[in-house]
Amino acid sequence: MTAKVETTLRGPQAYGLARRVVDEMEAAGVWPTPLNFELWTHALGQPEGALAGEIQRMTAAGEPFTEAVTDALAAQHLPRGRLTDQIRDAGQVLDRELSSVSSVIAEAHRSQAAYGQTLEQAATSIEAAAGGDGLQTIVSDLTSATRQVQHETESLEKKLEVSTQEVVRLREHLELVRRDAMTDALTDLANRKAFDEHLAAACDKAESSAAPLTLAVFDIDHFKRFNDTWGHQTGDQVLRYVASVLGRTAASPRFAARFGGEEFAIVFPYESSAMVETALKGVLAEISSRSLRRRSTNDDLGAVTVSAGFAVRRRGETPAALLERADAALYASKRGGRNQVSCAERLAKAA
Ligand code: C2E
Repeated sequence: MTAKVETTLRGPQAYGLARRVVDEMEAAGVWPTPLNFELWTHALGQPEGALAGEIQRMTAAGEPFTEAVTDALAAQHLPRGRLTDQIRDAGQVLDRELSSVSSVIAEAHRSQAAYGQTLEQAATSIEAAAGGDGLQTIVSDLTSATRQVQHETESLEKKLEVSTQEVVRLREHLELVRRDAMTDALTDLANRKAFDEHLAAACDKAESSAAPLTLAVFDIDHFKRFNDTWGHQTGDQVLRYVASVLGRTAASPRFAARFGGEEFAIVFPYESSAMVETALKGVLAEISSRSLRRRSTNDDLGAVTVSAGFAVRRRGETPAALLERADAALYASKRGGRNQVSCAERLAKAA
């Protein structure tokens, strides 16, 4: 959120703005999700801004605010990606700071203790050797000064322990926020950013271990028609339904993500092409096996189907090239009549 909106939300107009945000979201027919709330707060807090202009334009044109549209608006107008990076950097800085402060204190404590011991030994030697009162007094003064310093160090350590706990708490909080920023709010699957990061890491791992890696991409068939007929709130439920089947299929080390409006992906490490194809056919069969109902009216929505395409990573292949081949296989499934799985390698052989 920009500084101007942040300031408004802490000023005399804060509650008025929040109430208007809720009213406007209701008028626009969008759910009051945290992301929508952020978008509309941003738009109403900065009515002259680009986001407000875009929302006004869409409202005037009667364009629906589907989940995909609000995701795109957020990606374009809210600085979420940068926020995630900043949060991660902040966590690393905290870690570094904390370990450096701890080692400085430990070092200080060690040298204080050594200093005290030296003085104590000196006092004993002086007493034994000369019995000089003046000298002895000086040394014992020094010793008590040292004890005082040691006492202060101990209290510093206690304070450090309290701040350590605070930093641990803060890190846990940052981790939660980071996980949130990597999760698609509607479906609870990993979002595009998390998918990109995961696929890049999986490709690196497959390259170094020479283990197989397969990428499958999915697209809901006739989703636009579905949205137009039943409304985008029902469309959102369809997205959640498909995501729930994909999420169940993709137990670790598989990895499922929603990476576009009605597009999903699963990364399959360590599995043969035949195993992946069997799993994908199972997913398609499960998705199409149910007849969904519209929650508000109990209308029968019929079965939802998805098309899928997959590609097995070639040695040295980049994540983008792998995605492109899986996408091409997906479009072969669409062209072939939908609700089917296509394999990029088989298509290449047939060509
Ligand atoms: P949800 O509405 O939050 O439901 C979560 C889970 O609760 C469902 O997972 C299912 O296990 C259970 N559940 C909810 N409502 C019912 C019900 O009326 N009967 C039965 N037997 N179980 C129910 P599931 O099935 O994987 O669905 C995940 C999401 O997909 C649901 O989240 C919902 O958003 C959507 N969905 C699934 N089926 C339908 C449907 O027939 N109509 C609509 N509009 N959405 C559906």
